[in-house]
Amino acid sequence: MLKSACVCLTSLFLTHSTTAQKRPLPVIDMHLHAMPVKKGSTPAIICAPFRDIGPHDPAQPYSETYQNVLKSSAWADRQLIAPTNNDSLKMLTLLALDKYNVYAVTSGDMETVRNWEKSSPDRIINALDWGFGLAKNQGLTPDSLEKIFKTGEFKVFGEVAIQYEGYSPSDSAFEPYLAMAEKLDIPVGIHLGPGPPGAPYLNYENYRAKLHSPFGLEEALIRHPKLRIYAMHAGWPMLDEMLTTMYTHPQLYVDVAAICYMIPQKEFYFYLERLVNAGFGKRIMFGSDNMVWPQTIEIGIEAINNAAFLSTAQKRDILFNNAARFLRLTEAEIKAMQ
Ligand SMILES: [Zn+2]
Repeated sequence: MLKSACVCLTSLFLTHSTTAQKRPLPVIDMHLHAMPVKKGSTPAIICAPFRDIGPHDPAQPYSETYQNVLKSSAWADRQLIAPTNNDSLKMLTLLALDKYNVYAVTSGDMETVRNWEKSSPDRIINALDWGFGLAKNQGLTPDSLEKIFKTGEFKVFGEVAIQYEGYSPSDSAFEPYLAMAEKLDIPVGIHLGPGPPGAPYLNYENYRAKLHSPFGLEEALIRHPKLRIYAMHAGWPMLDEMLTTMYTHPQLYVDVAAICYMIPQKEFYFYLERLVNAGFGKRIMFGSDNMVWPQTIEIGIEAINNAAFLSTAQKRDILFNNAARFLRLTEAEIKAMQ
């Protein structure tokens, strides 16, 4: 059965107004996107979570298989459907942030992020999406980025999505950007882990499975020991490599974005529990990876709150405390978020 993500605005407003009095404990979402809805096409759909990944008959193009999968229950029991226009997407996302008392590191192109921040200045923490394509098309070079970050308007460099372009974080071409972020003490969020299943057969021809590897971070970490950096998506599914890299580099944090709603929940819990059991519970941060499906914020938060293997204190660490420490929020800033 297809469960629509298109929530009735009226009911959401009502829910919002009735809960506004008792503010839940604050949450920091380290991985929210402010991206425009695609025009002129059918609304974007995501499986949440995938139940099966594959099979795919190579006799037909994978893009056709994937589109059919998203529209049917072939690989999932629940799908989310994006709002049809940018205003609805922004409004539904900001309502979700308000309802769950979420402060969100929000990335996108500068114009869209500024627009969202103007609508919700308390909840949006400006971040900048980046890849080599954006550097080329929008002139986001180390020099221009340095000027942007020095104004203080943008707080986080990321999502850095060079894995989609076939680059490892330790690639020499990325080196000047890491040097800039380290010099300015700007936190870096780097995509490390899953894109859509079958990414090289969709629009990401340079995407490679081997670039999921957290070991790809290692030389960058060694070269820039003062860098604040987090591996988005916690490098799923490279569990042993992620554990080894976190053990070797105590400054490295991770977020649980996308894996908290997109992969089978049993697998998400297995992965998260291993990270916590291994001693890294103080370095795991919540992230929704809401792209254009605002319900993923609630689904992600609930996935943490419903994890039976986590104590109340561990849940608070993941949902708030670890990110507050990583972002170096002041006591006054934390107090204002309560
Ligand atoms: Zn990502």
